[in-house]
Amino acid sequence: METSTETGPDSGPESGSESDPTPGAERVVTAVAPTSLSPSRASDFMQCPLLYRFRVIDKLPEKPSEAATRGTLVHAVLERLFDVPAGERTAPQAKSLIPGQWDRLRESRPELGELFADDAEGERMTRWLGEAERLVERWFTLEDPTRLEPAERELFVEAELDSGLKLRGIIDRVDVAPTGEVRIVDYKTGKAPRPEYAEGALFQMKFYALVVWRLKGVVPRRLQLVYLGSGDVITYDPVIEDLERVERKLHALWEAIRSATESGEWRPRPTKLCGWCDHQAVCPEFGGTPPPYPLRIGAPESAGA
Ligand code: SF4
Repeated sequence: METSTETGPDSGPESGSESDPTPGAERVVTAVAPTSLSPSRASDFMQCPLLYRFRVIDKLPEKPSEAATRGTLVHAVLERLFDVPAGERTAPQAKSLIPGQWDRLRESRPELGELFADDAEGERMTRWLGEAERLVERWFTLEDPTRLEPAERELFVEAELDSGLKLRGIIDRVDVAPTGEVRIVDYKTGKAPRPEYAEGALFQMKFYALVVWRLKGVVPRRLQLVYLGSGDVITYDPVIEDLERVERKLHALWEAIRSATESGEWRPRPTKLCGWCDHQAVCPEFGGTPPPYPLRIGAPESAGA
């Protein structure tokens, strides 16, 4: 769940440790150098190196957003729907899962209570849940879950490349045909990008295909992005050369991350996406000052893997 403006389950920090936030308690964060790369964080670095630093090294808190939380909820519903027998995987059945999954999400992430704290009448939350229903319904116009039996759902994958670089992420769904062909599927609750930006959207999928190839020695036959926001499906059939290209790109990216980690120089790269950035108050592009760099400058060992 990477290139849309919404984030998914692998959007959290990928290294280091953070104390359990207790109301009223001081937030304690232990900064450690990054040791692995996920598609979300790779995209962060490509978008803005300083944003990557704030998220991965400083681990600055971010406010939960309605769009990202709705994305997480819809993903949970689509995942759980496959628990019921194939013939019962209908749109009403899927929609009936929404309230329970929403309760579960709030229990596991109490900070989500902030989202509707000022919504005393519950009107905004009702609208928000209605939008989640529409996204779930739209899925049934794009795929038929009564004819699908996923091999994996919400699959955590991690692979170490020969260079030592660790790649990790969570794949929404893996389908395996009787012939053994593998299809990797990712749900997006946003809208499909315009064709000229499709390559960026496919980056995350090629990342996953590379991980699967390195783990299992099998190149996935098809990569499929399902856009619930606009009702589009984008597919791509990768070849080995695609995956080798992504691997080279990730190595170059990782070198740049290691170098910035060591030097402490994380450049801001302002774009229109700054409008969605939670860290303008500490960003020099907006007159802010970043917090003191928490790692030792010039410590090559701090660059991790
Ligand atoms: S506001 Fe923009 S330039 Fe500053 S950290 Fe965020 S994304 Fe980067």
